[in-house]
Amino acid sequence: MADTTLMDKLVSLCKRRGFVFQSSEIYGGLGSVWDYGPLGAALKKNLKDRWWHAMVQARDDIEGLDAAILMHPKVWEASGHVAGFTDPLVDCKHCKNRFRADDPRIKGTPGQPDAQCPVCGSRGTLTEPRLFNLMFKTFMGPVEDQAAIVYLRPETAQGIYVNYLNVLNSSRQKVPFGIAQIGKAFRNEITPGNFIFRTREFEQMEMQFFVKPGTDVEWFERWRAWRMEWCQGLGLTPAKLRFHQHGPDELAHYAKDAFDIQYEFPFGWQEIEGVHNRTDFDLGRHQQYSGKKLEYFDQAANERYLPYIVETSAGADRVTLTVMVDAYREESVEGETRVVLGFHPALAPIKAGVFPLVKKEGMPELATEVYQALKPRFPVFYDDSGAIGRRYRRMDEAGTPFCVTIDGETVANRTVTVRHRDSMKQDRVALDQLEAYLRDQLAL
Ligand code: ATP
Repeated sequence: MADTTLMDKLVSLCKRRGFVFQSSEIYGGLGSVWDYGPLGAALKKNLKDRWWHAMVQARDDIEGLDAAILMHPKVWEASGHVAGFTDPLVDCKHCKNRFRADDPRIKGTPGQPDAQCPVCGSRGTLTEPRLFNLMFKTFMGPVEDQAAIVYLRPETAQGIYVNYLNVLNSSRQKVPFGIAQIGKAFRNEITPGNFIFRTREFEQMEMQFFVKPGTDVEWFERWRAWRMEWCQGLGLTPAKLRFHQHGPDELAHYAKDAFDIQYEFPFGWQEIEGVHNRTDFDLGRHQQYSGKKLEYFDQAANERYLPYIVETSAGADRVTLTVMVDAYREESVEGETRVVLGFHPALAPIKAGVFPLVKKEGMPELATEVYQALKPRFPVFYDDSGAIGRRYRRMDEAGTPFCVTIDGETVANRTVTVRHRDSMKQDRVALDQLEAYLRDQLAL
């Protein structure tokens, strides 16, 4: 399968099966904004739940937070976003396309006669790099004057920094500890694209870990390993995951070290999560701009310091795309193509399909009974339309790990077949064991 066709096939499957739709489609769509349909919303929620479980619920040293999208405008001055959340851009005077100045497709130096436009191929038509603000601006209150300008946050992290003392004091945590948050972020990206990979509205799963200066390197290394483990635990192909360490030219000026976790997409190796040693830059800046002391008092050692921060920052949409790209496969079964989304069972939007083999002989009634019994426990889907093979294929495409079929034997001896998505093998399971069997297989 050529790699570009994989993305095309995935986009069309996502629409057909209700994973992801173009925003405002009936009006012709809104560029680079996407809506999640029933299966996509469930998939993304499962992913976020898994992150929250690993980062907050399973740990004693991380607290959850849900900060607002709108923040005091000074936050963005302190963070450097108002002045600096800018990417140098170049325009092509000939074809009017706009690129990041560091776009690897550009040959030569923008602004110089040798520079070549990667789209129209013209030479000497690229402008000098200029700065461009990526934050969405809006107005607070009914009067659109300067005083009321607020921004849609371009990252969730700032909500964590400005609440660090609130969380510390209310939770009775001690350094080292972390604050985790999942929430929307907005960036007026110049080159959005690749479906939900880079969009203008997206969700982040970020955690900021506050540590004593001097212990930051060891915590950074721990978080780097833990986050890779988490990505591997999603069932992603291990050979398609790697670290990329930021070189001196990529490293943000305040960062001491940064690694991206990259995945090999059909369009190349790309970042899905960043792990950063941000030093005391963030708290230092907020302390300076707010005039409020943000130091931590370590009672045991009787000393005050500004904690260093180790950040882990992943995109919920980007990781959802990763999971879908990795899960997509086509197989030839008895001369027919079977499309499978081989999701990790914990991520699968539907855990089991429930089918009566035929619509007679008491099977639909029994199947409905099974469906009703399972439904409060985990997401299941009832389907009695079409040949059984077609129903299996529909569940394969939705990534459903199990299909339960009620047949003649069920009526006779109260057993069902459970068909496994990946191996297509079938087990015979007693009805009164079914829930426990599925729970065990799903590792719930
Ligand atoms: P990129 O350069 O790939 O857009 P970035 O380096 O700007 O990413 P960060 O600011 O480190 O990204 O954001 C952390 C994570 O948030 C990224 O690893 C990615 O998963 C996600 N993310 C960032 N920008 C977007 C976007 N426009 N659309 C979807 N996800 C995004």
